[in-house]
Amino acid sequence: MTFSFDTTYKNLDPSLYSRVTPKSIADPEIVVRNDGLCADLGLDPAELNATILAGQDLLEDPIAQAYAGHQYGNFTALGDGRAMILGEHVRDGDRYDIQLKGSGRTPYSGRGDGNATVSSMLREYLYSYAMQNLHIKTSRSLAVLETDEAIRRRRTEPGAILVRVMNSHIRYGTFQYVASRAADELQRFTDYVIDRHYPQLTATDRPYLDFFDAVMQSSIEMVVDWLRVGFVHGVMNTDNMSIDGETFDYGPCAFMNYYDEETVFSSIDKHGRYAFGNQRPILRWNLERLAEALQPLCTRTALTYDELESELDEFDDRFDAQYYTMMRKKLGITSDDEKALVDEFLEWLRKSNTDYTNTFLELETPGTFDDPAFATTEFEQLREKLAAVGLDEELMQEANPRYIPRNYLVEEALDEYLETGTLSTFERLLNVLENPYISKETASQFQQPPPREFDTEYTTYCNT
Ligand code: AMP
Ligand code: MG
Repeated sequence: MTFSFDTTYKNLDPSLYSRVTPKSIADPEIVVRNDGLCADLGLDPAELNATILAGQDLLEDPIAQAYAGHQYGNFTALGDGRAMILGEHVRDGDRYDIQLKGSGRTPYSGRGDGNATVSSMLREYLYSYAMQNLHIKTSRSLAVLETDEAIRRRRTEPGAILVRVMNSHIRYGTFQYVASRAADELQRFTDYVIDRHYPQLTATDRPYLDFFDAVMQSSIEMVVDWLRVGFVHGVMNTDNMSIDGETFDYGPCAFMNYYDEETVFSSIDKHGRYAFGNQRPILRWNLERLAEALQPLCTRTALTYDELESELDEFDDRFDAQYYTMMRKKLGITSDDEKALVDEFLEWLRKSNTDYTNTFLELETPGTFDDPAFATTEFEQLREKLAAVGLDEELMQEANPRYIPRNYLVEEALDEYLETGTLSTFERLLNVLENPYISKETASQFQQPPPREFDTEYTTYCNT
């Protein structure tokens, strides 16, 4: 079967989107396709040929969504500048946006060319694949197609289209857009989003307050999951924050190797606004912007801004609860306390700057890695204290990946594709990341962190 579209977004006010047509591509070629995802969506890979996947054979008119957002703290009107939703695919009652990224200009492109490069789309494919298998709520990538264009960025390379799947692409920034540009639509739009993502709230007494509460909860769960695996999203602008708690827009993201809360990889994040350890306060800041966008509902419905503010006041306690539960699992602590011991461990980690992923594997099985920090009496004593209350193997194996996408291997895989047109490293990475919680004897090279200088100098880029 091919897509089965029923695009409800088109029933919303026309100011919220534009009808668009993907650029025409002479001879698109599938570089990778996720057949497992096809199966999850009830799609037959044999029917999803390059022409359909590249938006050259349309089932209905695609749309580009309008949105706004705070980018590095500054409010801007935006919209899908290089993305188009082909339609909402429905399978067993579940609804998925099928979106093309890199499919050409739209009314929201500004001065952008609407294009994407093959290396950045392969990068997004790989990270979203890893995140899904790390059990983190994420957009998923159905395929990457190469086009015959030459796209000029830092280097010139082939163009590409990513076929991206999400529960929806509705963001905090979509609410900011509606509140600022189409305020009369805000209540109807919020009802639509509640119905689509939080249907259990339609029947509550306070649906808008409960909605804000639910978005806060799903976002906290998402960011705590990032902190669990060392993920740095890199560009947590409010337009990149999903209303359903799905991680998306894998641009300047990367995984931290050596534990340092100030870790930043993005070329433009000069002040560390989106550093690893800043993701928590930034989430709160973003939720404040969402609360402001919902404020117009306060004059029309029983919602008051004080209520939204008291929800926000709960943020720190809620985040802490989620964070310490996660950390206790990583340390295999079965009880609900031991906060002091978790803090002591974190203090050691900050000071020792060891590889984040491997530290937990070393706690599980001492002697696995030969970092001198693991041979210190301090680490040994800490491990003994942890062993007294934790180090439960089953808990640890669920929470601690054996493999993450190591930056240097990702770059190696992408360079190899650009230089030789082969995907052998890329495929080996996908293979290891298919089951990142399961050790593979042959995969120890995928556990090696890069030399320290690599991480310090490693830079990732936006809009590539
Ligand atoms: P991002 O940083 O990827 O979330 O993108 C921020 C905004 O810039 C979004 O509205 C994108 O649609 C837009 N954008 C990024 N790259 C391009 C491009 N090459 N052409 C047009 N718009 C773009
Ligand atoms: Mg974005």
